[in-house]
Amino acid sequence: MAESSLKIDHARYILTLDRQRRIIQDGAILVEGGRVSRVGKAAELQDARADRVIDGRYLVITPGFFNGHMHISYAHPVRGIFPDEQASPLGHVFNLQSAMTEDEEYHATLLGLVELVRNGTVCFLDPGSTKFPDACLQAYEDSGIRVVLGEAVTDQDAPWKLPRYPATEAVARTTAFLEKWNGRLDGRIRAWAMPFSYETCSAGLLQALKRVVDEHRTGLTLHHNSGTKARQDSVARHGYSPTAYLESIGVMGPNVLLAHCLGLDEAELDSVARTGTAVAMCPVTAAKGGRGVPEHGRMPELLTRGVKVALGCDSPNNSNHLDIVRTMNMAAIQYKDARQDTRQVPAEAALEMATRHGAEAMGLGDELGSIEVGKKADLVAFDTLRPEWQALWNPVNNLVYNADGRSVHTVVIDGRVVVDAYRQTFVDEPRLFARVQEIGERLQARTGITFPRSRWPIS
Ligand SMILES: [Zn+2]
Repeated sequence: MAESSLKIDHARYILTLDRQRRIIQDGAILVEGGRVSRVGKAAELQDARADRVIDGRYLVITPGFFNGHMHISYAHPVRGIFPDEQASPLGHVFNLQSAMTEDEEYHATLLGLVELVRNGTVCFLDPGSTKFPDACLQAYEDSGIRVVLGEAVTDQDAPWKLPRYPATEAVARTTAFLEKWNGRLDGRIRAWAMPFSYETCSAGLLQALKRVVDEHRTGLTLHHNSGTKARQDSVARHGYSPTAYLESIGVMGPNVLLAHCLGLDEAELDSVARTGTAVAMCPVTAAKGGRGVPEHGRMPELLTRGVKVALGCDSPNNSNHLDIVRTMNMAAIQYKDARQDTRQVPAEAALEMATRHGAEAMGLGDELGSIEVGKKADLVAFDTLRPEWQALWNPVNNLVYNADGRSVHTVVIDGRVVVDAYRQTFVDEPRLFARVQEIGERLQARTGITFPRSRWPIS
Protein backbone atom coordinates (compact mmCIF):
# COMPACT_ATOMS: atom_id res chain seq x y z
CA MET A 1 0.00 0.00 0.00
CA ALA A 2 1.25 3.47 -0.85
CA GLU A 3 1.54 5.81 2.09
CA SER A 4 -1.24 8.32 1.63
CA SER A 5 1.25 11.18 1.38
CA LEU A 6 4.97 11.63 1.77
CA LYS A 7 7.18 14.68 1.69
CA ILE A 8 10.94 14.82 1.32
CA ASP A 9 11.84 18.23 2.66
CA HIS A 10 15.00 20.35 2.30
CA ALA A 11 16.77 17.79 0.12
CA ARG A 12 20.39 18.77 -0.36
CA TYR A 13 20.00 18.11 -4.08
CA ILE A 14 17.24 16.66 -6.25
CA LEU A 15 18.50 15.30 -9.58
CA THR A 16 15.17 15.45 -11.39
CA LEU A 17 16.23 13.98 -14.78
CA ASP A 18 13.32 16.00 -16.17
CA ARG A 19 13.39 17.40 -19.71
CA GLN A 20 15.70 20.26 -18.66
CA ARG A 21 17.70 17.96 -16.36
CA ARG A 22 17.11 20.39 -13.49
CA ILE A 23 19.12 19.91 -10.32
CA ILE A 24 17.35 21.53 -7.37
CA GLN A 25 19.30 22.56 -4.28
CA ASP A 26 17.38 22.66 -1.00
CA GLY A 27 14.50 20.99 -2.78
CA ALA A 28 11.29 19.30 -1.76
CA ILE A 29 9.10 16.58 -3.26
CA LEU A 30 5.50 15.89 -2.36
CA VAL A 31 4.10 12.43 -3.10
CA GLU A 32 0.34 11.86 -3.05
CA GLY A 33 -1.47 8.71 -4.15
CA GLY A 34 1.81 7.10 -5.21
CA ARG A 35 2.68 9.92 -7.62
CA VAL A 36 4.81 13.03 -7.51
CA SER A 37 2.34 15.87 -7.00
CA ARG A 38 4.83 18.70 -6.47
CA VAL A 39 8.57 19.19 -6.85
CA GLY A 40 10.57 22.38 -6.42
CA LYS A 41 12.49 24.50 -3.96
CA ALA A 42 11.73 23.70 -0.32
CA ALA A 43 10.54 27.29 0.12
CA GLU A 44 7.96 26.83 -2.65
CA LEU A 45 6.57 23.70 -0.97
CA GLN A 46 6.56 25.18 2.53
CA ASP A 47 2.77 24.91 2.75
CA ALA A 48 2.74 21.24 1.67
CA ARG A 49 1.71 18.91 4.50
CA ALA A 50 2.14 15.13 4.40
CA ASP A 51 1.47 12.09 6.58
CA ARG A 52 5.19 11.45 6.68
CA VAL A 53 8.02 13.93 6.23
CA ILE A 54 11.58 12.79 5.55
CA ASP A 55 14.31 15.24 6.48
CA GLY A 56 16.37 15.56 3.30
CA ARG A 57 19.10 17.92 4.55
CA TYR A 58 21.81 15.30 3.98
CA LEU A 59 20.18 13.45 1.12
CA VAL A 60 20.68 13.52 -2.65
CA ILE A 61 17.49 12.36 -4.36
CA THR A 62 17.46 10.64 -7.75
CA PRO A 63 14.78 8.80 -9.72
CA GLY A 64 14.67 5.04 -9.02
CA PHE A 65 17.07 2.92 -11.06
CA PHE A 66 16.27 0.55 -13.93
CA ASN A 67 18.14 -2.68 -14.55
CA GLY A 68 17.48 -3.80 -18.12
CA HIS A 69 19.11 -7.25 -18.05
CA MET A 70 19.21 -9.02 -14.71
CA HIS A 71 18.96 -12.83 -14.50
CA ILE A 72 17.63 -13.90 -11.13
CA SER A 73 17.55 -17.61 -10.45
CA TYR A 74 20.40 -20.01 -9.76
CA ALA A 75 23.31 -17.64 -9.28
CA HIS A 76 23.08 -16.20 -5.77
CA PRO A 77 23.51 -19.62 -4.07
CA VAL A 78 26.69 -20.34 -6.06
CA ARG A 79 27.99 -16.83 -6.55
CA GLY A 80 31.71 -16.71 -7.10
CA ILE A 81 32.28 -20.44 -7.65
CA PHE A 82 33.62 -20.02 -11.18
CA PRO A 83 37.36 -19.47 -11.22
CA ASP A 84 38.67 -16.56 -13.27
CA GLU A 85 40.19 -18.91 -15.84
CA GLN A 86 36.76 -20.42 -16.64
CA ALA A 87 36.42 -18.81 -20.06
CA SER A 88 32.64 -19.16 -20.44
CA PRO A 89 30.67 -20.67 -17.58
CA LEU A 90 27.47 -20.75 -19.66
CA GLY A 91 27.24 -24.54 -19.89
CA HIS A 92 27.35 -24.78 -16.11
CA VAL A 93 25.01 -21.82 -15.74
CA PHE A 94 22.16 -23.47 -17.59
CA ASN A 95 22.71 -26.84 -15.92
CA LEU A 96 22.59 -25.20 -12.49
CA GLN A 97 19.58 -23.12 -13.45
CA SER A 98 17.61 -26.11 -14.71
CA ALA A 99 18.36 -27.96 -11.47
CA MET A 100 16.74 -25.34 -9.21
CA THR A 101 13.65 -26.37 -7.25
CA GLU A 102 10.75 -24.04 -6.69
CA ASP A 103 11.68 -23.38 -3.08
CA GLU A 104 15.33 -22.77 -3.97
CA GLU A 105 14.44 -20.33 -6.70
CA TYR A 106 12.12 -18.45 -4.35
CA HIS A 107 14.89 -17.93 -1.78
CA ALA A 108 17.49 -17.02 -4.40
CA THR A 109 15.03 -14.52 -5.86
CA LEU A 110 14.32 -13.03 -2.46
CA LEU A 111 18.04 -12.45 -1.96
CA GLY A 112 18.30 -10.92 -5.43
CA LEU A 113 15.48 -8.53 -4.61
CA VAL A 114 17.08 -7.51 -1.32
CA GLU A 115 20.33 -6.73 -3.10
CA LEU A 116 18.56 -4.86 -5.90
CA VAL A 117 16.36 -2.62 -3.77
CA ARG A 118 19.05 -1.91 -1.20
CA ASN A 119 21.19 -0.63 -4.08
CA GLY A 120 18.39 1.56 -5.44
CA THR A 121 16.96 -0.58 -8.25
CA VAL A 122 13.20 -0.11 -8.48
CA CYS A 123 12.61 -2.09 -11.68
CA PHE A 124 14.45 -4.94 -13.35
CA LEU A 125 13.99 -7.17 -16.37
CA ASP A 126 14.61 -10.86 -15.78
CA PRO A 127 15.37 -12.26 -19.25
CA GLY A 128 13.32 -15.41 -18.84
CA SER A 129 15.46 -17.20 -16.28
CA THR A 130 12.80 -17.52 -13.59
CA LYS A 131 11.25 -20.98 -13.87
CA PHE A 132 8.70 -20.61 -11.08
CA PRO A 133 7.17 -17.14 -11.25
CA ASP A 134 4.17 -18.34 -9.22
CA ALA A 135 6.52 -19.21 -6.36
CA CYS A 136 8.33 -15.88 -6.70
CA LEU A 137 5.17 -13.75 -6.84
CA GLN A 138 5.10 -13.38 -3.07
CA ALA A 139 8.70 -12.11 -3.13
CA TYR A 140 7.86 -9.52 -5.80
CA GLU A 141 4.83 -8.44 -3.83
CA ASP A 142 6.61 -8.23 -0.47
CA SER A 143 9.62 -6.34 -1.82
CA GLY A 144 7.47 -3.80 -3.66
CA ILE A 145 9.79 -3.93 -6.67
CA ARG A 146 8.77 -3.65 -10.33
CA VAL A 147 9.69 -6.55 -12.58
CA VAL A 148 9.55 -7.34 -16.27
CA LEU A 149 9.06 -11.09 -16.50
CA GLY A 150 8.89 -13.64 -19.28
CA GLU A 151 9.54 -17.22 -20.14
CA ALA A 152 12.71 -18.03 -22.08
CA VAL A 153 11.88 -20.00 -25.23
CA THR A 154 13.84 -21.48 -28.15
CA ASP A 155 12.96 -23.83 -31.00
CA GLN A 156 16.43 -24.59 -32.39
CA ASP A 157 19.57 -26.40 -31.32
CA ALA A 158 21.57 -24.56 -28.67
CA PRO A 159 24.98 -25.27 -27.18
CA TRP A 160 23.42 -25.05 -23.71
CA LYS A 161 20.51 -26.55 -21.85
CA LEU A 162 17.81 -24.05 -22.79
CA PRO A 163 14.03 -24.61 -22.73
CA ARG A 164 13.15 -25.79 -26.26
CA TYR A 165 9.66 -26.23 -27.71
CA PRO A 166 8.12 -26.57 -31.14
CA ALA A 167 7.51 -22.99 -32.38
CA THR A 168 3.72 -23.20 -32.01
CA GLU A 169 4.08 -24.32 -28.41
CA ALA A 170 6.62 -21.57 -27.67
CA VAL A 171 4.16 -18.99 -29.00
CA ALA A 172 1.26 -20.48 -27.06
CA ARG A 173 3.29 -20.54 -23.84
CA THR A 174 4.36 -16.92 -24.32
CA THR A 175 0.82 -15.77 -25.07
CA ALA A 176 -0.49 -17.56 -21.99
CA PHE A 177 2.31 -16.02 -19.91
CA LEU A 178 1.50 -12.49 -21.08
CA GLU A 179 -2.20 -12.95 -20.41
CA LYS A 180 -1.57 -14.34 -16.95
CA TRP A 181 1.10 -11.92 -15.75
CA ASN A 182 1.01 -8.59 -17.53
CA GLY A 183 -0.19 -5.78 -15.25
CA ARG A 184 -0.34 -7.71 -12.01
CA LEU A 185 0.59 -6.15 -8.63
CA ASP A 186 -1.00 -2.81 -9.60
CA GLY A 187 0.96 -2.78 -12.85
CA ARG A 188 4.31 -3.44 -11.18
CA ILE A 189 4.65 -6.68 -13.16
CA ARG A 190 5.06 -6.44 -16.91
CA ALA A 191 5.22 -9.58 -19.02
CA TRP A 192 7.28 -9.74 -22.21
CA ALA A 193 8.22 -12.30 -24.85
CA MET A 194 11.72 -13.64 -24.22
CA PRO A 195 13.14 -15.72 -27.08
CA PHE A 196 16.70 -16.49 -26.00
CA SER A 197 18.56 -15.28 -29.11
CA TYR A 198 18.36 -15.17 -32.91
CA GLU A 199 20.77 -18.15 -33.04
CA THR A 200 18.45 -20.40 -31.02
CA CYS A 201 15.09 -19.37 -32.49
CA SER A 202 13.69 -19.74 -36.01
CA ALA A 203 12.60 -16.69 -38.00
CA GLY A 204 9.05 -17.98 -37.78
CA LEU A 205 9.14 -18.11 -33.99
CA LEU A 206 10.70 -14.65 -33.66
CA GLN A 207 8.14 -13.15 -36.06
CA ALA A 208 5.23 -14.81 -34.30
CA LEU A 209 6.43 -13.55 -30.90
CA LYS A 210 6.84 -10.03 -32.28
CA ARG A 211 3.23 -10.15 -33.50
CA VAL A 212 2.08 -11.32 -30.06
CA VAL A 213 3.81 -8.45 -28.26
CA ASP A 214 2.55 -5.91 -30.80
CA GLU A 215 -0.99 -7.15 -30.19
CA HIS A 216 -0.58 -7.17 -26.41
CA ARG A 217 1.26 -3.81 -26.42
CA THR A 218 4.15 -5.23 -24.49
CA GLY A 219 7.81 -5.95 -25.28
CA LEU A 220 10.28 -8.54 -26.50
CA THR A 221 13.87 -9.00 -25.40
CA LEU A 222 16.60 -11.29 -26.64
CA HIS A 223 20.35 -11.73 -26.28
CA HIS A 224 22.10 -10.11 -29.19
CA ASN A 225 25.74 -9.77 -30.14
CA SER A 226 27.62 -9.42 -33.37
CA GLY A 227 31.33 -9.23 -34.29
CA THR A 228 33.44 -10.60 -37.11
CA LYS A 229 32.81 -14.29 -36.46
CA ALA A 230 29.10 -13.87 -35.66
CA ARG A 231 28.63 -11.79 -38.81
CA GLN A 232 30.33 -14.41 -40.97
CA ASP A 233 28.18 -17.17 -39.48
CA SER A 234 25.01 -15.12 -39.80
CA VAL A 235 25.74 -14.12 -43.42
CA ALA A 236 26.42 -17.77 -44.26
CA ARG A 237 23.17 -18.90 -42.63
CA HIS A 238 20.79 -16.01 -43.29
CA GLY A 239 22.49 -13.77 -45.85
CA TYR A 240 22.62 -10.86 -43.36
CA SER A 241 24.56 -9.65 -40.33
CA PRO A 242 22.84 -10.57 -37.04
CA THR A 243 21.20 -7.14 -36.72
CA ALA A 244 20.26 -6.80 -40.41
CA TYR A 245 18.76 -10.27 -40.18
CA LEU A 246 16.48 -9.24 -37.30
CA GLU A 247 15.46 -6.13 -39.23
CA SER A 248 14.85 -8.17 -42.41
CA ILE A 249 12.40 -10.45 -40.61
CA GLY A 250 10.65 -7.52 -38.88
CA VAL A 251 11.86 -8.26 -35.36
CA MET A 252 13.15 -4.78 -34.51
CA GLY A 253 11.32 -1.73 -33.19
CA PRO A 254 10.64 0.36 -30.09
CA ASN A 255 9.17 -2.62 -28.24
CA VAL A 256 12.29 -4.73 -28.79
CA LEU A 257 15.19 -4.63 -26.32
CA LEU A 258 18.49 -6.15 -27.49
CA ALA A 259 20.71 -7.30 -24.62
CA HIS A 260 24.51 -6.85 -24.57
CA CYS A 261 24.89 -5.66 -28.18
CA LEU A 262 28.65 -6.04 -28.48
CA GLY A 263 30.42 -6.03 -31.82
CA LEU A 264 27.86 -4.15 -33.93
CA ASP A 265 29.26 -2.59 -37.11
CA GLU A 266 28.19 0.78 -38.52
CA ALA A 267 25.36 -0.65 -40.60
CA GLU A 268 24.06 -2.59 -37.59
CA LEU A 269 24.21 0.53 -35.39
CA ASP A 270 22.23 2.41 -38.06
CA SER A 271 19.67 -0.40 -38.12
CA VAL A 272 19.16 -0.19 -34.36
CA ALA A 273 18.72 3.59 -34.53
CA ARG A 274 16.52 3.58 -37.66
CA THR A 275 14.08 1.06 -36.18
CA GLY A 276 13.91 2.75 -32.75
CA THR A 277 15.06 -0.49 -31.13
CA ALA A 278 16.27 -0.26 -27.52
CA VAL A 279 19.40 -1.78 -26.04
CA ALA A 280 20.46 -3.05 -22.59
CA MET A 281 24.21 -3.12 -22.01
CA CYS A 282 26.05 -4.83 -19.17
CA PRO A 283 29.37 -2.99 -18.87
CA VAL A 284 30.65 -4.89 -15.82
CA THR A 285 29.92 -8.27 -17.41
CA ALA A 286 31.70 -7.13 -20.56
CA ALA A 287 34.77 -6.07 -18.59
CA LYS A 288 34.89 -9.01 -16.19
CA GLY A 289 34.23 -11.50 -18.98
CA GLY A 290 37.05 -10.08 -21.08
CA ARG A 291 34.70 -9.35 -23.97
CA GLY A 292 36.99 -6.77 -25.52
CA VAL A 293 35.22 -3.48 -24.94
CA PRO A 294 37.90 -1.50 -26.84
CA GLU A 295 37.15 -3.59 -29.94
CA HIS A 296 33.49 -4.51 -29.48
CA GLY A 297 31.93 -1.88 -27.20
CA ARG A 298 29.65 0.51 -29.08
CA MET A 299 27.92 2.39 -26.27
CA PRO A 300 29.17 5.83 -27.42
CA GLU A 301 27.94 5.21 -30.98
CA LEU A 302 24.54 4.04 -29.73
CA LEU A 303 24.21 7.11 -27.51
CA THR A 304 25.27 9.46 -30.33
CA ARG A 305 22.57 7.94 -32.54
CA GLY A 306 19.96 8.62 -29.84
CA VAL A 307 19.30 4.94 -29.12
CA LYS A 308 17.64 4.31 -25.75
CA VAL A 309 20.27 2.39 -23.82
CA ALA A 310 19.52 0.78 -20.45
CA LEU A 311 22.16 -0.64 -18.12
CA GLY A 312 22.08 -4.17 -16.75
CA CYS A 313 23.95 -6.17 -14.13
CA ASP A 314 23.34 -9.48 -16.00
CA SER A 315 23.74 -12.02 -13.20
CA PRO A 316 25.31 -12.56 -9.80
CA ASN A 317 27.78 -14.85 -11.56
CA ASN A 318 28.61 -12.52 -14.44
CA SER A 319 29.05 -9.01 -13.19
CA ASN A 320 28.91 -10.39 -10.15
CA HIS A 321 27.11 -7.65 -8.26
CA LEU A 322 23.65 -6.16 -8.54
CA ASP A 323 24.72 -2.60 -7.83
CA ILE A 324 23.54 -0.26 -10.57
CA VAL A 325 25.64 2.59 -9.11
CA ARG A 326 28.83 0.59 -9.68
CA THR A 327 27.46 -0.28 -13.12
CA MET A 328 27.03 3.42 -13.92
CA ASN A 329 30.59 3.94 -12.80
CA MET A 330 31.87 1.22 -15.15
CA ALA A 331 29.81 2.59 -18.05
CA ALA A 332 31.28 6.04 -17.49
CA ILE A 333 34.91 4.95 -17.14
CA GLN A 334 35.39 1.98 -19.47
CA TYR A 335 35.04 3.89 -22.73
CA LYS A 336 37.31 6.68 -21.54
CA ASP A 337 40.01 4.05 -21.21
CA ALA A 338 39.05 1.98 -24.24
CA ARG A 339 39.11 5.03 -26.53
CA GLN A 340 41.78 6.94 -24.61
CA ASP A 341 39.37 9.88 -24.61
CA THR A 342 37.83 11.36 -21.44
CA ARG A 343 34.91 12.82 -23.42
CA GLN A 344 33.37 9.36 -23.88
CA VAL A 345 30.19 8.50 -21.90
CA PRO A 346 29.96 11.44 -19.48
CA ALA A 347 28.72 10.85 -15.93
CA GLU A 348 25.41 12.46 -16.92
CA ALA A 349 24.93 9.91 -19.72
CA ALA A 350 25.57 7.06 -17.29
CA LEU A 351 22.92 8.44 -14.91
CA GLU A 352 20.45 8.88 -17.79
CA MET A 353 20.89 5.23 -18.82
CA ALA A 354 20.17 4.04 -15.28
CA THR A 355 17.06 6.23 -14.94
CA ARG A 356 15.20 8.08 -17.68
CA HIS A 357 16.57 6.25 -20.71
CA GLY A 358 16.46 2.89 -18.92
CA ALA A 359 12.75 3.43 -18.25
CA GLU A 360 12.20 4.37 -21.90
CA ALA A 361 14.14 1.33 -23.11
CA MET A 362 11.85 -0.83 -20.99
CA GLY A 363 8.71 0.84 -22.32
CA LEU A 364 7.98 2.63 -19.05
CA GLY A 365 9.15 6.15 -19.86
CA ASP A 366 5.68 7.76 -19.77
CA GLU A 367 5.21 6.92 -16.10
CA LEU A 368 8.71 6.52 -14.71
CA GLY A 369 12.38 7.43 -14.98
CA SER A 370 12.36 11.03 -13.76
CA ILE A 371 11.08 13.12 -10.88
CA GLU A 372 8.27 15.11 -12.47
CA VAL A 373 4.76 16.07 -11.46
CA GLY A 374 2.33 13.31 -12.43
CA LYS A 375 4.91 10.55 -12.71
CA LYS A 376 4.93 7.59 -10.36
CA ALA A 377 6.91 8.25 -7.20
CA ASP A 378 9.95 5.98 -7.53
CA LEU A 379 12.79 7.69 -5.69
CA VAL A 380 16.22 6.91 -4.28
CA ALA A 381 17.79 8.96 -1.49
CA PHE A 382 21.58 8.82 -1.08
CA ASP A 383 23.14 9.54 2.29
CA THR A 384 25.82 12.19 1.88
CA LEU A 385 26.99 11.91 5.50
CA ARG A 386 29.64 9.47 4.35
CA PRO A 387 33.28 10.01 3.48
CA GLU A 388 32.92 9.07 -0.19
CA TRP A 389 30.39 11.85 -0.71
CA GLN A 390 32.84 14.56 0.46
CA ALA A 391 33.38 17.21 -0.73
CA LEU A 392 30.15 17.71 -2.60
CA TRP A 393 30.22 20.18 -5.49
CA ASN A 394 28.83 18.33 -8.49
CA PRO A 395 26.31 15.73 -7.28
CA VAL A 396 26.30 13.84 -10.60
CA ASN A 397 30.07 13.38 -10.51
CA ASN A 398 29.94 12.45 -6.82
CA LEU A 399 27.26 9.84 -7.49
CA VAL A 400 28.82 8.24 -10.58
CA TYR A 401 32.51 8.47 -9.71
CA ASN A 402 32.69 8.39 -5.89
CA ALA A 403 29.65 6.59 -4.54
CA ASP A 404 28.27 3.10 -4.78
CA GLY A 405 25.02 1.47 -3.71
CA ARG A 406 26.08 1.31 -0.07
CA SER A 407 25.08 4.93 0.40
CA VAL A 408 21.49 4.23 -0.69
CA HIS A 409 19.60 5.40 2.38
CA THR A 410 15.93 5.29 1.40
CA VAL A 411 14.04 3.86 -1.59
CA VAL A 412 10.46 4.68 -2.54
CA ILE A 413 8.46 2.70 -5.13
CA ASP A 414 4.93 3.79 -6.07
CA GLY A 415 5.04 6.13 -3.09
CA ARG A 416 5.77 3.28 -0.70
CA VAL A 417 8.99 3.36 1.35
CA VAL A 418 10.61 -0.02 0.66
CA VAL A 419 14.04 0.78 2.11
CA ASP A 420 13.83 3.05 5.13
CA ALA A 421 17.09 4.49 6.48
CA TYR A 422 19.06 1.49 5.08
CA ARG A 423 16.56 -1.13 6.32
CA GLN A 424 14.21 -3.23 4.26
CA THR A 425 11.47 -4.87 6.24
CA PHE A 426 10.25 -7.66 3.98
CA VAL A 427 12.76 -10.33 4.94
CA ASP A 428 14.95 -11.43 7.86
CA GLU A 429 18.34 -11.03 6.19
CA PRO A 430 20.62 -13.23 8.36
CA ARG A 431 18.16 -16.13 8.10
CA LEU A 432 17.83 -15.70 4.36
CA PHE A 433 21.60 -15.52 3.87
CA ALA A 434 22.10 -18.80 5.78
CA ARG A 435 19.34 -20.44 3.75
CA VAL A 436 20.85 -19.39 0.42
CA GLN A 437 24.29 -20.66 1.49
CA GLU A 438 22.71 -24.06 2.26
CA ILE A 439 20.94 -24.07 -1.10
CA GLY A 440 24.30 -23.47 -2.77
CA GLU A 441 25.79 -26.48 -1.00
CA ARG A 442 22.89 -28.69 -2.02
CA LEU A 443 22.89 -27.45 -5.59
CA GLN A 444 26.59 -28.16 -6.06
CA ALA A 445 26.24 -31.62 -4.50
CA ARG A 446 23.21 -32.45 -6.66
CA THR A 447 24.66 -31.26 -9.97
CA GLY A 448 28.30 -32.16 -9.36
CA ILE A 449 29.19 -28.68 -10.62
CA THR A 450 31.94 -27.62 -8.23
CA PHE A 451 35.34 -26.06 -8.51
CA PRO A 452 38.29 -25.86 -6.15
CA ARG A 453 37.04 -23.23 -3.74
CA SER A 454 40.15 -21.18 -3.74
CA ARG A 455 43.63 -21.05 -5.22
CA TRP A 456 44.77 -20.42 -1.67
CA PRO A 457 44.42 -23.01 1.06
CA ILE A 458 41.28 -22.66 3.17
CA SER A 459 41.80 -24.51 6.43
ZN1 LIG B 1 21.32 -12.71 -20.30
